[in-house]
Amino acid sequence: MNVHEYQAKELLKSYGIPVPVGEVAYSDKGAARVAEDIGGTRWVVKAQVHAGGRGKAGGVRIASTLPQLRELTDAMIGSRLVTEQTGAEGQLVQRVLIERACRIDRELYLGLTIDRATQRITVIASAEGGVDVEEVAREHPERIHTEVVDPATGLLDFQCRKLAMAIGLQHRMSPFVKLVKRLYRLFRDKDAVLLEINPLVETEDGDLLALDCKLAFDDNALFRQGDVAELRDFDEEDPKEVEAYGHGLNYIALDGQVGCIVNGAGLAMATMDAIVLHGARPANFLDVGGGAGPEKVANAFRIVLEDPNVRVILVNIFAGINRCDWIAEGVVRATRSQEIEAPIVVRLAGTNVDEGRRILRESGLELVIAEDLDDGARKAVAALRAVEAGYDAVPQGVRT
Ligand code: ADP
Ligand code: MG
Repeated sequence: MNVHEYQAKELLKSYGIPVPVGEVAYSDKGAARVAEDIGGTRWVVKAQVHAGGRGKAGGVRIASTLPQLRELTDAMIGSRLVTEQTGAEGQLVQRVLIERACRIDRELYLGLTIDRATQRITVIASAEGGVDVEEVAREHPERIHTEVVDPATGLLDFQCRKLAMAIGLQHRMSPFVKLVKRLYRLFRDKDAVLLEINPLVETEDGDLLALDCKLAFDDNALFRQGDVAELRDFDEEDPKEVEAYGHGLNYIALDGQVGCIVNGAGLAMATMDAIVLHGARPANFLDVGGGAGPEKVANAFRIVLEDPNVRVILVNIFAGINRCDWIAEGVVRATRSQEIEAPIVVRLAGTNVDEGRRILRESGLELVIAEDLDDGARKAVAALRAVEAGYDAVPQGVRT
């Protein structure tokens, strides 16, 4: 789960980490009010969307008068910001962060993440922070410095000092060590998976400030992080994924045309692979989970079909904890409660499979029955080709 920059900065502030003075605003009037409150002579207007690369895309602008600040805010709110990280359709800007502009001397990079190879929290720092840090990492990996944290000791002072030396902050040793240790504490306390300060700036007055912050949390820990979970902004997420989450389904939208309804993450991955192997692409990952009742299956259909790219549906169930008869009933219920034009390929195996097949047979529905995973993927792709070729119904060759 990601949060907005202004929310991340509130958290930083509560841990005593220095951030610029500022506040979120939802309108040009609100922005002017914030600017008057925080004072100063120059302000930054920052689009609040869950994507980086805003600076290069016009999502971070500087105003030196209040009318200009209102103008910039007005133009930003309601527009779609397209950055390197958003995709072509961009993200709708619904709020902006107004901050006092600071006079920057140097832009550095500081990040914490969990390194999968060592399975440890790792602190990453570079003297060359700012909007081009990705390029630095690519072209000059030796300019990126890391310290791996041993969970038995936690982050140690000497590790922070080493990083300070590496990025030329020896003259700010004490505030830097304090800052990194506080970031580490926040990261641990809140079950974060990524905390990025880019840029961390040294101002002309000699202060260290977190000028930007990207913060992501472990979804699987949200149950014990009530205050973090409250920061979730569903507007920034795919509405189908949000709805699926509400129904206890694991759904991830993808860009293909074969909608997948599968039980178990492993089988869902294998199903997606099989579809690609046969020459098409999956429209989604969907795991209905164990013990999925008919209602859940019907909901899964609805969510998959909300994607306009879906031309064929492949149901692939290997029932252990699940029951094929329930799944079959869910399929029937889904087709009764909504018009489904896409051909449906069904593969059922496992618990109560005979009963499941009987329900499908007696439903009178035009379903394509598949024998196993490979057969299911093959038939789904054949059905897709038939739909693309403009057949009204799935040709006989595909049906068994
Ligand atoms: P993004 O990473 O999405 O491009 P940032 O918040 O890092 O957005 O802002 C991009 C650049 O804008 C920064 O590298 C910095 O140079 C400038 N900037 C951002 N906030 C401020 C601020 N409060 N005062 C002065 N400059 C700022
Ligand atoms: Mg940034």
